[in-house]
Amino acid sequence: MRLIIMGPPGAGKGTQAKFIAEHFKIPAISTGDIFRANVSEGTELGIEAKRYMDAGEYVPDEVTNAMVKDRLAQDDARDAFILDGYPRTVDQVSTLDGILDSLGTKLDGVIELVVDPEELIQRLLKRAETSGRADDTEQVIRHRQEVYTAETAPLLEVYGSRGIVIEVDGMGDVDEVTQRIDAALPA
Ligand code: AMP
Repeated sequence: MRLIIMGPPGAGKGTQAKFIAEHFKIPAISTGDIFRANVSEGTELGIEAKRYMDAGEYVPDEVTNAMVKDRLAQDDARDAFILDGYPRTVDQVSTLDGILDSLGTKLDGVIELVVDPEELIQRLLKRAETSGRADDTEQVIRHRQEVYTAETAPLLEVYGSRGIVIEVDGMGDVDEVTQRIDAALPA
């Protein structure tokens, strides 16, 4: 099973990706988590990524794509994975297509968490009170939503035209959303 989970910042992708990963015993690969780990370890990649992350901008495609290529080449991701936060640009879609083509495989589904934008902002502001994330200020939160709308939302049309988008209502309790995803995915 090779899946992507998509939705705007604050839609609950990370939480739901972890549930799906456990349920299907597949790795959850979050580019945001990999960047954050590099930032805290002070690696070269982390230093480069931090400038963009703190401003709510996307890390350049060539940096992100190279990182994902490496991660997907690892043994645990060979047969199955759920990608959280990647791809986010048209260029990243092409790179992922190329990686999967070279392995002779393809995506099984793109889970789209459908949420109300205003509620999202409220959720993110609440998370900002406790997260300590440098990208959790109101200005950056709003900017991240704009970047998502401009750069990432169009990918849903790309995957939609391939007939692999699975829309799931992302509003309500975490557990309710988890149950909806569970019901929507093949057993
Ligand atoms: P996330 O935790 O997925 O919201 O990611 C946090 C930040 O990491 C984003 O705001 C971007 O700066 C960066 N990032 C994560 N994934 C990507 C990606 N696929 N392309 C570019 N930047 C990314």
